[in-house]
Amino acid sequence: MAVADSHAAPHRNRIEHQPEAVERRVADALAALSLEQKVRLLTGADVWSTYPEPAIGLRRIVVSDGPVGVRGELWDERDPSVSLPSPTALAATWDEALLERLGALLASEARRKGVDVVLGPTVNLHRSPLGGRHFECFSEDPLLTGRIGAAYVRGLQAHGVGATPKHYVANDSETERFTLDARIDERTLRELYLAPFERMIVGARAWLVMAAYNAVNGVTMTENALLASPLDDEWGFDGVVVSDWTATRSTVAAARARMDLAMPGPRGPWGDALVAAVRSGEVPEKAIDEKVRRLLRLAARVGALEGVAPAAPAPAQLPAAAAAKLARETAAASMVLARNHGDVLPLDAASLQRVALIGPSAAQGRIQGGGSASVHPHYAVSPLDGLRAALGQRVEVRHALGARSEEGLVPVSGDQVTDPVTGEHGVHVRLLDAKGGVMHEEHRAVGRLTFIGDLRANQASTIEVTTRLRAAEAGRYQLGVAGVGAYRLTAGGQVLFDETIAPDKDDLAAQLLAPPQRAAELPLAAGQEIDVALTHTVTPDTFAVAFSLGVEVPALPGDEELARAVELARSSDVAIVVVGTTEAIESEGFDRSSLALPGRQDELVSAVAAVNPRTIVLVNSGGPVIMPWREEVAAVLLTWFPGQEFGNAVADVLLGAVEPGGRLPTTWPSREEDVPVLSTKPDNGKLVYAEGLHIGYRAWARAGVTPAYPFGHGLGYTRWEILDVDAPPGVAPGAAVEARVRVRNAGPRRGRHVVQLYLSRPDSQVERPVLWLAGFATVEAEPGQTVEIAIPVEPRAFAHWASGGWQIEPGAYTLHAGHSATVLTRQAGVTVLDA
Ligand code: BGC
Repeated sequence: MAVADSHAAPHRNRIEHQPEAVERRVADALAALSLEQKVRLLTGADVWSTYPEPAIGLRRIVVSDGPVGVRGELWDERDPSVSLPSPTALAATWDEALLERLGALLASEARRKGVDVVLGPTVNLHRSPLGGRHFECFSEDPLLTGRIGAAYVRGLQAHGVGATPKHYVANDSETERFTLDARIDERTLRELYLAPFERMIVGARAWLVMAAYNAVNGVTMTENALLASPLDDEWGFDGVVVSDWTATRSTVAAARARMDLAMPGPRGPWGDALVAAVRSGEVPEKAIDEKVRRLLRLAARVGALEGVAPAAPAPAQLPAAAAAKLARETAAASMVLARNHGDVLPLDAASLQRVALIGPSAAQGRIQGGGSASVHPHYAVSPLDGLRAALGQRVEVRHALGARSEEGLVPVSGDQVTDPVTGEHGVHVRLLDAKGGVMHEEHRAVGRLTFIGDLRANQASTIEVTTRLRAAEAGRYQLGVAGVGAYRLTAGGQVLFDETIAPDKDDLAAQLLAPPQRAAELPLAAGQEIDVALTHTVTPDTFAVAFSLGVEVPALPGDEELARAVELARSSDVAIVVVGTTEAIESEGFDRSSLALPGRQDELVSAVAAVNPRTIVLVNSGGPVIMPWREEVAAVLLTWFPGQEFGNAVADVLLGAVEPGGRLPTTWPSREEDVPVLSTKPDNGKLVYAEGLHIGYRAWARAGVTPAYPFGHGLGYTRWEILDVDAPPGVAPGAAVEARVRVRNAGPRRGRHVVQLYLSRPDSQVERPVLWLAGFATVEAEPGQTVEIAIPVEPRAFAHWASGGWQIEPGAYTLHAGHSATVLTRQAGVTVLDA
């Protein structure tokens, strides 16, 4: 990783980051550039960085994916990152102050890796729970998404690292994401899908925005007028619009639009073609100048323009222990205790002797969703590790798999494999040229190899992976590859296969990150070792190479596995079952086809619950799953994808060291067929947002159907009563309202709660949702204590979009205070007076 050039040397005459001085410096730099130089800056130099221009003191700007951590320029275990809970989990905290603290952590990660800009947060909405990147988006509500996202942006940029709210706009699902045309009426766009971006631009002044792959109302987003208006002219966005990777499809239309930076590079539709288009008058040079001006302004902000102090001081480097502590605190604060029958939780560790920890995610928790939002963590604590560490020697924590969630190959790693050259655990990788000469070789710890924008790998003819596989137990192993293209696999000198694997998905990212598999059976004796060699013929001129050498170890027959877990549960004081989804289910590039848990997990939970009344289920998924057994078990804890500190946070919550702090940022259905907006399949390329304003809890309320767990729901370890809500009875249109809510902690311990305010307007002249979130605040109190909190309700909460502007309908609104979108216990009338 090249970090050496990432921090411009302090310039002798460095100017402070004052707007006028920065603009002058930027204008001077711009004036010194030829057309060719300017245009060159507008396409990436490579996959993750922009061109430097030493003549004007401009170094390259490095960007990197977030939002759960900062991956950096490498996409593998050689450059590990702090891994935080998935964005839906972050939104479940409803805690803007915490998000700002995470911003400091992410900024420190970015700077450690020489990164200037984080490609996040993802602020598309949870329109359908089937959305493939649901886990990567915050919530189904525009206010919650906007406030959490704005806190993320503020936190990052306060430390001089740019944030990139994405994907502007309406990339709310993945099926046909490059081409789908989202048909959305203007009011719905404004009130739902644009609203979070507005908050991040107007409120948090994000320095970049990413233009989405999809089209909206007939025009692809990198050419869409929505980039100019409202983003630029109305919201005052003065930053860089960067295309999603490969989303720029035209020279003239994209350059005439308010699109600034085409990524990745160095190839793309701009370059020489754009220079020619400017010369022929098809694209005004002024448009190019404005793009470059914005890019230079960004450079000045992040400290990439010599002579200008960055917009904010660099963050303090956070020591690993402090990062781990914050990751652990965040994971616990995001976990949603959906059910706690008979107050089975928290567990009293002193009374426990035997704990059964069951399920496919117990020993191997899933810490993050798949796709560009993934990072390579330094470590991951499984629920099994976390509970064992917390309970110590005195308590026997026994484990059984119970059911498998994942079928297929897992990249080889750990003591399963030995690098034949270095003797370390792992594999040996050689990049060979056309004549078989070694261009590069290295040891790698894991059999999963991703080379994105890595010129060496892209120019190689062949990539060879060798290792010595050791069978821990006797049985029939499956050995193979996950990847697209030509592969030859041998074991013990025998060819297992030699063929070309065709892609099974159209989406390039999905092909790279969740590729098809090809395996062959290999019977091995216990302790047997065998030499394995995999060669991949690289497709010439490829942009990215990604494949893994994987193995599927022999498994017990399903019934036996299940019976073993049930026996363990029967003879334990408490049975904790950790169920979840897999990377083949929740990942970028495709949507989910079902909300059911994979494999026999539902059957496992019911069977365990039938023999142990103290069954606690942990759901390890990024988004909603159907839980047919939820009333059979004592407790349900939704952990999301919790990041590297999974097991420690689980132990903290289960044993009561901390409260599970999360409240649902999205509705969890009881049955798939109840979900009001489900389909993400475009019809003839068009995805019609026919439901308009009615998504999420708004739609559930309209349909009159009760979900499993409503938006806003989440239990802590104490109980809360809302005593009253008070608001001024009459307000002038456009005025803010401050509601005062008295809340009592009516339970046994200190706690924190999220008090939510919703508005409704039953006798409205305009169509409206049944109710909508209007404000929220957190409260902390001791047992028995009553606290009064002020919750601001912004004027926008009373506004609707009509006739090209925000309107406020005068008359009577009802302000509801509650614990979720369906448990609204107190209300007050607010009349908006005539203007
Ligand atoms: C994703 C973006 C991501 C980019 C770079 C795209 O496929 O949609 O969210 O930032 O790749 O990895």
